[in-house]
Amino acid sequence: MLNQQFDTSTAFRAVIETTIDSVVVTDDRGLILYVNQSTIDLFGYNAEELIGERINILMPESHSRNHESYMNSYLTTGQAKVIGIGRKVEAKKKNQELFPCWLSLTDFQFEGKTYFTGVIKDYSALEKAYQELADLNQNLEQKVKLKTQELEVALNKSEQLNELKSKFLTLASHEFKTPLATILSSTILVEKHGRKENTLSNAQQKHTQRIKRSVHLLDEILEEFINIERIEQNRIDVTMSHFLLKDLMDDVQSLLSVQQKENQELEIDYQVSQDVSIQSDYHLCMYVLMNLLSNAIKFSVKDTPVTIEIVEANQYEFHIKDQGIGIPKGDQDHIFDRFFRADNAKAVSGTGIGLHIARQYAQLLGGDLWFESEENQGSHFIFSIPKV
Ligand code: ADP
Repeated sequence: MLNQQFDTSTAFRAVIETTIDSVVVTDDRGLILYVNQSTIDLFGYNAEELIGERINILMPESHSRNHESYMNSYLTTGQAKVIGIGRKVEAKKKNQELFPCWLSLTDFQFEGKTYFTGVIKDYSALEKAYQELADLNQNLEQKVKLKTQELEVALNKSEQLNELKSKFLTLASHEFKTPLATILSSTILVEKHGRKENTLSNAQQKHTQRIKRSVHLLDEILEEFINIERIEQNRIDVTMSHFLLKDLMDDVQSLLSVQQKENQELEIDYQVSQDVSIQSDYHLCMYVLMNLLSNAIKFSVKDTPVTIEIVEANQYEFHIKDQGIGIPKGDQDHIFDRFFRADNAKAVSGTGIGLHIARQYAQLLGGDLWFESEENQGSHFIFSIPKV
């Protein structure tokens, strides 16, 4: 193990002397025989003040009593409580300042006598760093807690605001329905009267048609607002019936024709027989398909096709695809939220409740509604209903 040319006594002394940790050697009564330079630096005594003193001089009062009883018990029983084991203790400097340190005690025999070596590692800086870390952690925890609370308050507020919005809109919608119905019936009466008296000009007829179309549009929007309330109060009636897939799609197609843009083809790709009979709620299915297809048309430009693929697997699936503006990734998690509209959709008119209702309807029918989308590439919505 040792190189022969290594002069052990001088070399070892130099090693101990230059060790960063404090090294103290005592006899079996605890009298200090040797201290290295680090001990002098750490404790603030000079060597003469320590040599011949009891080791207790480097310990706080409380610890020095325990220390003596440990030593005595070790010397008489040979049972080590401290010897050979490192542990964290407090040490005392010349100026009486206490500081944390790691103490490793070992013993050795020399010429028939027992001696003890204590290696003392100053823990102050480490402990300070730990404390700072703990403080930082606590600070961070508090900050996270505070932010979470703020977020909860904000979420609550936004939820309350949405609730308020729903309530207000439902209330207003109910109020608007009656005057709207009056506008519609009066317009129809004006038309009827004009036709009977033969006084209805083409221009007047064009305007009465426009009034009727606008009233219908407004009525549909009001109906959506009212539907939110119905959904929240579980008041949506599901009326199951048998109907032909083809009839459903024909109705969808004719209703959509007014919304299609120039050269905007609506392609229906039946991967099932058109004569297949579906058992579901016709009106709810119609609502979901109309919402998805209106959106596909609304959020894509002219000349780009909108396709519906109807697939039969364990369930019927309607795949509605467009090549429009798509939905930004960051908005995708919220797309079914009440009143939510993606950032890139703000230039197009809408209320942000169609999809919210559509998904609730799909689920009421025992199916589901989900999507994939890429901004500026297009969207693919899938509406499924069970096969019964
Ligand atoms: P609205 O169409 O009235 O805004 P919806 O609830 O139907 O409300 O849709 C919510 C939002 O989802 C839209 O505002 C839009 O941001 C996004 N979206 C829905 N369908 C599409 C689509 N096909 N392409 C791009 N964005 C869509």
